[in-house]
This record gives sequence, C-alpha cells and structure tokens, in this order.
Amino acid sequence: MEVTNRYISIKSPLDDGEPKESDFELKTSPLALSVSPGSSDVIVKNLYVSIDPYQLNRMKSFSSSQKAIGFATAIAPGEEIDAYGVAKVVASGNPEFEKDDLVVGLISWGEYTVLKEGTMFRKFDHLGFPLSYQVGILGFSGLTAYGGFFEVCKPKKGERVFVSAASGSVGNLVGQYAKLFGCYVVGCAGSKEKVALLKGKLGFDDAFNYKEELDLKSTLKKYFPDGIDIYFDNVGAEMLEAAVENMNTFGRVAVCGVISEYTDAGKRAAPNMLDVVYKRIKIQGFLAADLMNVYSDFISTTVDHLRTGNLHVVEDISCGLESFPSAFIGLFRGHNTGKKMVKVADE
Ligand code: NAP
Repeated sequence: MEVTNRYISIKSPLDDGEPKESDFELKTSPLALSVSPGSSDVIVKNLYVSIDPYQLNRMKSFSSSQKAIGFATAIAPGEEIDAYGVAKVVASGNPEFEKDDLVVGLISWGEYTVLKEGTMFRKFDHLGFPLSYQVGILGFSGLTAYGGFFEVCKPKKGERVFVSAASGSVGNLVGQYAKLFGCYVVGCAGSKEKVALLKGKLGFDDAFNYKEELDLKSTLKKYFPDGIDIYFDNVGAEMLEAAVENMNTFGRVAVCGVISEYTDAGKRAAPNMLDVVYKRIKIQGFLAADLMNVYSDFISTTVDHLRTGNLHVVEDISCGLESFPSAFIGLFRGHNTGKKMVKVADE
C-alpha cells in the first residue's frame, strides 16, 4: 500500500531570534508501506514526538553545537526533522522487529518514519505506564534531570539547590529528584501559575517568577541567604551570572542548557570569574548522551518513585501533525508546562 506521508520542515535556516510559524511548512511525499526484499528498513507510524529547545540550534546556518554530537547535526531546509519519540512498526525488513511492535528512538516531525540501519531505536517495555512517559519522564528528559543532578552536581543531603526553567520538562524533574533526595530546592519560572505548581503539587521549598524581578542577584540573595550549593542551569545569560554571585564555596553549576541564548546570539553569560576562582566553583556542561552509565539506576529509581506516587508527571501534549510549529515555538515563549510533545496518532 502507498500513502502520502505528511511532515514538517523548515523553509530556510532560522538565524534570527525566536522561531515563528512562517519558518515552517508542511510537505508531502509518497511512501510505500512495505519494505523491498533485502532491505533492513523499518517503517513506523509516529505516535508521540518530543519537542526540544536544542532543535533550534540545529535549524541555524551555524551553531557550535552542530559539530559536537551526532544528535545535534544541522537540519537542512526541506528535510524531515528527526526527533526522539515513540512509534509503531508498520513494516519491517529487520528480523528483530515485527509489525505492531512499539519502538522508541529517533523518528521525525511527520506521520511516518523510515528507520534505516544505524538509526537509534529499540523496542521497549512500557512497564504499565502511558506511552508518553517514554518521551519524557522515562526518556531523555528524565535521564538528563537524573544524571545531570546526581552525576554532575554530586549533591549531599541538606544542600541548597537552585533550578531555572523549573516548571519545564527537565527542570521540574530536577527539583523533584532533589527534594526526594533531601535537598532544599528553589525554582524559578515565567508565570505565577508555574510558581504555584512548583510550590504546591511539586513540593519545591520556594519559587519565584523571574519575569517580575528587576535585579536577579538580589533576588537570589533573598531566596538563598545562606548561599547556593548547586545551580542546575537551563537558561544561561544573566541568571547564570546571578547564581554564580550567590554560590557557596565549592558550589557546583551543571550547565544543562542556555535557552535564553538560543534566540539571542548577543546574550552571553559573563560570570564573575574571581568568584569562580576564589569560591572554587565547578561549572560543568554536560549532555544526556554522556550519562548512559546511570541509565539503569535512573529507570529503576524513577519507576519506584512513580509507583509510590512520590514523583509527579507533568506533560504538555499538543495533538496533530499541524501542531508541531506552535508546540516548538511555544518553548521559547514559555507556553509549555512540563514535557512538551506532539501526539501525531492514536496507538
Ligand atoms: P522546557 O524547560 O520544558 O521548555 C523551555 C522553557 O524554558 C520554557 O517553558 C520557558 O519557561 C523557559 N524559557 C524559554 N525562553 C526563556 C528565556 N529567554 N529565559 C528564561 N527561560 C526561558 O525545555 P526542556 O526540554 O526541559 O529543556 C530545558 C533546557 O535544558 C534547555 O536549555 C535545553 O536545551 C536543555 N536540555 C539539555 C539537555 C542536555 O543533554 N544537556 C537535554 C535536554 C534539555 P518559563 O515560563 O519559565 O520562561
């Protein structure tokens, strides 16, 4: 059977500020839902697709991130956009996969994906949880939060932790893991509803709306009168500078992402390096792909917390192929709360 596969692509490189609807177009191409003899392709129907800020750096003419790792290579205009997600096999030339198997891996912003040999994907056990969990809490967002916090920040019980973009996919989990571990946790987010979520349901000790604060250095001094031991940075720029000023001796900064710099090339954090030297602060960037050594701990701990109800799942799901551009754009405008993804089709 042949279908018309619909997918979203960029029209031209996205080099200017925030992405907008007109940067994207819906394209179509014919696709045979069968595999030629001798081919090891696996054809899948996309179900849930992760929406991630780093994709903007892939959509630029140039970003240093594009040379760092295979996942972050440039996305060319007109091409399918690969992204992490869950899909169902419709045809397979690979003996390890059969029709109707569920897989997780690199699929696309489209209705179907042809997974070539060498593409990262695998079957998974959903462990009784909704499929969407594979994209967020049990997927790369969860691994980033868990590994970034425990491996990079090396927390001790009772330490004081600050998380930015704290109501987002990675941030809300960092705060929850830190609380469950026994730290004091403050988060910042961009609306009063998000602040209420952090302080209420998610159990943060405190939270504030950074958009209402004029002087972030004094704000952090107010929330951390005894200083910050760990800063989990999702935003970069002036928030990183303010956090460094308030760090304690031997503090750790895990630089997970710098979203405020993705849309504004002129913004660059310039933390006070004398603070870094004299307070012996460790600032470390990391990628989730570096953290596979903690993958099995991450899954077993997270599944236990989910089963006991200690960990809350915050998801933000848009429906339908046409919603990819607005879902993505919304990340840079603070429209999402928790893990953003697009549900392309029902299981
Ligand atoms: P997310 O936090 O769910 O969504 C992005 C959030 O960032 C928005 O909801 C918005 O929340 C906030 N934001 C947007 N523009 C901002 C700005 N100019 N200043 C401050 N906050 C801004 O996204 P995520 O997937 O969890 O990613 C969070 C960060 O982690 C990103 O920097 C991402 O690139 C990074 N990341 C890194 C890795 C890794 O392997 N190192 C893996 C995953 C993600 P507000 O309403 O609070 O503004």
